[in-house]
Amino acid sequence: MNGCDTTFCGLAPPYVRAIAPYQPGKPISELARELGLSEADIVKLASNENPLGPSPRALAAAQDALHDMALYPDGAGFALKAKLSAKLGVAADQIVLGNGSNDVLDMTARAFLLQGTSAVYAQHAFAVYRIATQTVGAQGIVVAAKDYGHNLNAMRAAIRDDTRVLWIANPNNPTGTFLPWTEIEAFLETVPQQVLVVLDEAYGEYLPQAECCNTAAWLSRFPNLLISRTFSKAYGLAGLRVGYGLGSTEVIGLLNRVRHPFNVNAPALAAAEAALDDTEFLARSYALNTAGMAQLLAGLAELGIETVPSKGNFLLAKVGGATRVNTELLKRGVIVRPVANYGLPEFLRVSVGLAGQNARFLDVLKACL
Ligand SMILES: *Cc1c(COP(=O)(O)O)cnc(C)c1O
Repeated sequence: MNGCDTTFCGLAPPYVRAIAPYQPGKPISELARELGLSEADIVKLASNENPLGPSPRALAAAQDALHDMALYPDGAGFALKAKLSAKLGVAADQIVLGNGSNDVLDMTARAFLLQGTSAVYAQHAFAVYRIATQTVGAQGIVVAAKDYGHNLNAMRAAIRDDTRVLWIANPNNPTGTFLPWTEIEAFLETVPQQVLVVLDEAYGEYLPQAECCNTAAWLSRFPNLLISRTFSKAYGLAGLRVGYGLGSTEVIGLLNRVRHPFNVNAPALAAAEAALDDTEFLARSYALNTAGMAQLLAGLAELGIETVPSKGNFLLAKVGGATRVNTELLKRGVIVRPVANYGLPEFLRVSVGLAGQNARFLDVLKACL
């Protein structure tokens, strides 16, 4: 394995050595250094971040919280949980806070999986499901995708006696595929009780009103359901790292046992609280995404490039030799995300940006084809 030829490295468990690390989007600063460009000349549409930045109210709250940075944050996140509880209609002890929702996913793996157990996820699903599963030595069962998305019937059929977790993202990343909530609900009714279904709703805020569903209301019916959500996307707080999980009191109690104390920092807690109140910002983010998605779809269609229908703040564009096209885009200061590591070598994933950023991407792409 990579860098694992020393004796010491060889002592790490084989399942850890076998992990293919998460590949983040290339930082703007890194490409600027490589190209000798100023950071302002680079467009990054690679990590599904909110192109509006954070809500001004969240920014002010985080700045305020910095004055107390000598103190530990509230390890129980009382105020943020109280706010979420009131908004979502779930008890505070049904909420766990995470250092980003990735933290919630990782806690889930550590609380429920170990060697000798397995977890089910879809081909082209979010890489963290694979990584969290492998980290604790459990076996990942990968289920072939259907139209790039989750094939729920096949996922149910893949459940074994030793399966403890089933990961679903709706919409999914990096494909943007979405299943109607009625299908997810029907699926939950048929999943065996010993399997925890993790429903990752990182992009839920980008769904049109008509396609939203109050999935938190399902928790009373499905004790084996865990919902994860994040402030990283529509709320524009990716850099602060804050997300949360919703589940039964029992499931959340287990996650709290493996949660690192003080896992969410004070500015993040304060910003998340303020962001929840800033409904105007959320509406603006949604509207910008709708317009930007339409702009990208129209521009790509004009270039004769196929796309996968997406309900997120990003889309897959079928550019053919994506490695080559990506290299050309980078040379011209445009960062998007190659997804060959997701089994999608012909695609690039493009996040929806500001109108000018989308236009720049389309222009540069045209020159690269
Ligand atoms: C971006 C994303 C997350 C959020 O990660 P954070 O740790 O909350 O920043 C979770 N799940 C999926 C599918 C994502 O794309």
